[in-house]
Amino acid sequence: MSGSPVIMRLVASAHSVAEKAGAIVRKVLHSGELGIVEKTGANDLQTLADRLAQQSICASLSRRFPKVTIIGEEDLPSEEVKEDVIENGQAEDILQKSCPAEYSGLKEEELVVWVDPLDGTKEYTEGLLDNVTVLIGIAYGGRAIAGVINQPFYNYQLGAGAVLGRTMWGMLGLGAFGFQLQEVPGDRRIVTTTRSHSNKLVTDCVDAMEPHEVVKVGGAGNKIIQLVEGKASAYVFASPGCKKWDTCAPEAILHAVGGKLTDMHGNAYRYEADVKHMNSAGVLATLRNHEYYVGRVPQSVRQALKSD
Ligand code: AMP
Ligand code: MG
Ligand code: MG
Repeated sequence: MSGSPVIMRLVASAHSVAEKAGAIVRKVLHSGELGIVEKTGANDLQTLADRLAQQSICASLSRRFPKVTIIGEEDLPSEEVKEDVIENGQAEDILQKSCPAEYSGLKEEELVVWVDPLDGTKEYTEGLLDNVTVLIGIAYGGRAIAGVINQPFYNYQLGAGAVLGRTMWGMLGLGAFGFQLQEVPGDRRIVTTTRSHSNKLVTDCVDAMEPHEVVKVGGAGNKIIQLVEGKASAYVFASPGCKKWDTCAPEAILHAVGGKLTDMHGNAYRYEADVKHMNSAGVLATLRNHEYYVGRVPQSVRQALKSD
């Protein structure tokens, strides 16, 4: 189907590639040899699964879309990738969708892909498997316009025999698929935040939201899943630490269903190929009522975390 616009073919490939990466993430876990390496410290890890999944995603996408800029989280030596990590599939149902008019003429060289091959690595090593996601975000003109999230261990609590994994995707102007959109019932404020990268600024900011409940889970992708499935009303992380590959795909899916992801001041992040990787001014994401949460960010946080 080379007749589909480039962006639709890229999203369709990213969907298949994310599933392949999810299978790699499961296989490495089941092998029992995680190959853990500390990057900046004990809370910043890389495993064999992060390395192989990134190789698979980046090599598969760049073969088919050689002019797209692809930026992956992991710093890897440029070695030959094994042929068995290459994925050539394209999700047929995505190719069948009609492309929003504003994106139908986009060229390969105008697109930037942000790859987090395994989001929630810390939780992966600790067996909190539903926190783990594979994130492939697509940006155009500095904006996150489409994203794919694979959750390799979805359904793992059901035990032996359950089919593991699911893939969610979304695109501005088209909507989001692979899950049932739900909101937190009533006016309850359920705030989701980090479980392994907290500090006083982070907890002060969560408290300032006057939450009825706080849900501490790992992963940026996983926290956006909490928002769109009605488990949390806001993702509040008043700290640097998240990077562009953590937020690009989640932001695109959230925005596709009318939500919002910004820094703690309510300002948008940008995703051009040459931007700084760190989301230095924190992450604030909501499905609804974004202004309420922006309005409650304490002055101490606003001063400590400057927008770029
Ligand atoms: P968390 O909510 O702690 O699971 O973090 C979401 C994403 O941001 C994960 O990919 C983390 O690795 C990353 N992250 C957040 N804070 C830090 C930090 N202090 N150091 C390294 N990575 C971080
Ligand atoms: Mg991550
Ligand atoms: Mg990662």
